[in-house]
Amino acid sequence: MTVYLNGVFLPRAKAQVSVDDRGFLFGDGVYEVTRARDGRLFEPGRHLGRLTRGLYGLGIAWPTGLDGVAIQNISERLLRENELETGAATVYLQITRGAAERRHAFPPPDTAPTVFLAVSRLAVPDEIRSRGASVITTPDLRWGRCDLKTINLLPNVLAKQQAVSAGAFEAILVCDGVVTEGASSNVFAVVDGTLRTHPATERILAGITREVVLELARELGLRTRDEALPLGELRRASEVMITATTADVMPVVQVDKRPVGDGQPGPVARALQTALRARMAQVPVGTVP
Ligand code: PMP
Repeated sequence: MTVYLNGVFLPRAKAQVSVDDRGFLFGDGVYEVTRARDGRLFEPGRHLGRLTRGLYGLGIAWPTGLDGVAIQNISERLLRENELETGAATVYLQITRGAAERRHAFPPPDTAPTVFLAVSRLAVPDEIRSRGASVITTPDLRWGRCDLKTINLLPNVLAKQQAVSAGAFEAILVCDGVVTEGASSNVFAVVDGTLRTHPATERILAGITREVVLELARELGLRTRDEALPLGELRRASEVMITATTADVMPVVQVDKRPVGDGQPGPVARALQTALRARMAQVPVGTVP
């Protein structure tokens, strides 16, 4: 497996990061996971926009020489060199504030950010999708800037493990009685015929899949509303689904062991899944503006 680290393509086993890296010491960095299909990136412009907002939000300067075109070229080369030119894959990108003597405050401005990219095969969870997933709910323990895709994922890790231990696919996070999102996904529910999802505030990570699904829903003529969903409304929803780069649209058929609707994947989830697949199949998959 070939990866990219700080300007160099090298075998994964040879890629090494300093113990002084602020990603290691403080979780001081951002990341992106982008879907690739047949060697091309899906929605690269949106991922670049979110990465740019994340870097800006944390005050990390753009690494010298790295821009959207460079990221696209590096990603496509990694997909080629790792024989992932056909089928579904993901590109992982991480940028940290770099390696420097351990002090909480920012290091000297000439500290080079650490840039890492790697690709992997995506096993789309089709089997779970066809029968629908079960989820648990758990308190949202995160900070006030969940809109930044930082590598600080401890509350998400703990919530996901709680789900896995309960035999569930995902943990849905609840803050002050309101559903925010999943541990690594966004949550949608059909309530009284309207497709609802949390608005893109600082309380959630605005998923790229979430944005595309909202567009597709409007194209399909569905009524949509970006409005927070109290837990009680999630419990009486006729359909619940989660969205993520690695899960597409995943119907949820059980919340905390209670069935959603009739306990089967519903028509809205199915329609959105079909529409998303069609959107991903469009060639070219996408270019950076
Ligand atoms: N929310 C959180 C907390 C996530 O970690 C993710 C996936 N990384 C998402 C939402 C979904 O985002 P996307 O559709 O861009 O994968």
